[in-house]
Amino acid sequence: MILSTYHTIQSVFCCCCCCAVQKRAMRTKINVDSDTDLETQYSASQSEDSHAPTWKCKGKKKLHIKNKPLPPLPAEAFEDYTKKLKVIALYDFFARGPSDLTLKQSEEYIILEQYDPHWWKARDQYGNEGLIPSNYVTENTKSNLETYEWYCKNINRSQAELLLRQKSKEGSFVVRDSSQQGILTLSVYSRSKGSHGGDIRHYQIKKNHLKQYYVAEKYLFSSIPELIQYHQHNAAGLITRLRHPVRSIRCSSPATAGFSYEEWELNPSELTFMKELGRGQFGIVHLGKWKATIKVAIKKINEGAMSEDDFMEEAKLMMKLSHPKLVQLYGVCTRQKPLYVVTEFLENGCLLNYLRQWRGKLSRDMLLGMCLDVCEGMEYLERNNFIHRDLAARNCLVNAEHTVKVSDFGMARYVIDDEYVSSSGAKFPIKWSSPEVFHFKKYSSKSDIWSFGVLMWEVFTEGKMPFESKSNYEVVHEISAGNRLYRPHLASHTVYKVMYSCWHEVCWSFFVVVLL
Ligand code: ADP
Ligand code: MG
Repeated sequence: MILSTYHTIQSVFCCCCCCAVQKRAMRTKINVDSDTDLETQYSASQSEDSHAPTWKCKGKKKLHIKNKPLPPLPAEAFEDYTKKLKVIALYDFFARGPSDLTLKQSEEYIILEQYDPHWWKARDQYGNEGLIPSNYVTENTKSNLETYEWYCKNINRSQAELLLRQKSKEGSFVVRDSSQQGILTLSVYSRSKGSHGGDIRHYQIKKNHLKQYYVAEKYLFSSIPELIQYHQHNAAGLITRLRHPVRSIRCSSPATAGFSYEEWELNPSELTFMKELGRGQFGIVHLGKWKATIKVAIKKINEGAMSEDDFMEEAKLMMKLSHPKLVQLYGVCTRQKPLYVVTEFLENGCLLNYLRQWRGKLSRDMLLGMCLDVCEGMEYLERNNFIHRDLAARNCLVNAEHTVKVSDFGMARYVIDDEYVSSSGAKFPIKWSSPEVFHFKKYSSKSDIWSFGVLMWEVFTEGKMPFESKSNYEVVHEISAGNRLYRPHLASHTVYKVMYSCWHEVCWSFFVVVLL
């Protein structure tokens, strides 16, 4: 469903007719580009010809000995390397323990075994073997754009602009996924005369009926890498020639699903505390380091604030939830009091404060980009049958690259505090709750969608309190009477339509089912 040519959110939260909580649908992709063209989609199924294998099996020579039986080969020699998955490292990874393998950006590795979706056993060119995080590598084929240093998969228009301005060099460029699914956009920076802060152009990479790619119609190519290579030497219709790919300065390496495979219990002596970041429902949160290298956030859980045993069981599962738009749980320290919960650290802190701090300076595209980030994280949670239960701007964090990530998912279940747990309690998040939650505590991905609508409202009001000073009782009354939050002036009618669609009242047959 396309809601407008400019802003669409594509289907994520299924709203199937078999479900009584109807019509709360959310779509992950939010179009912020104006340069959209449905006919010129980049197809992932372009020619699959792979790189000429650069892998060398050390110590193996071709034997051509006539009429002489060969000696039996050791079992290892029978391994067929051509059939194994070959990957290229997107980031450096330093082995954290004896079972890990160090990765060097741009080098090739063979995958020997996939232990789980996040940790794989790999071998480098010198025969060293060990575990690597799977999100640090990508399949090494010519058609896999991720292997090129100019391709940034996970950035939107405003993040691309931010990166290009940071670099501020004539001809800085990046190829990114357009907000329209399956389409790529080339973003280029030029210090053109007259423009003070430089000029940024976004070109959609189009495809004609002969499946040829082009930016300027006269110059056609059979693949995107060929197109980029050509424009690296010739402007040919672009504002400038493509000189500096920005990916190299783009990404800090992503969080890994735990510090290593199946290790959730961390040694507290490997943690150092640096400074206090804030105080939450469970206790104080500190910035710290793990093994003096990786920055982390450490939550010290106050005595009696958490159902610790239940949480520790769940933590093992939560560590396996790993997505670029979720705050990663790294591990826990449970053999001491207070208990520590160690997570990824995000430099720009909580989204609510970030919105308030930057009030008046955030473009509508940026606001929409934030909603899209949250939407992608939530889509992953739903795909993994995980319900957040307390989605709100205060429970999202922002990293140095201004990406928003969802935090505190599922944690509401372990809070010991009547004021927070009881729907009549002062801390219960009524303003973010759907009617089936504040009436019956019936949580689902659909109640998360209701909260997402309120979060969108927080984003587009740049951090206002929903329903302002109304009491929880008054909010329940308003919602039950069919009233909803108003359209923030920064939200277009299309964006408001998306927000509003999150607040569909449940039908009464649903209540009957619940009450039976
Ligand atoms: P709780 O969930 O226990 O209520 P929070 O997670 O909200 O606590 O943490 C309280 C504050 O600490 C947040 O508002 C934020 O400012 C800071 N904080 C928490 N986790 C992080 C993190 N991973 N990175 C950066 N800041 C954090
Ligand atoms: Mg929180």
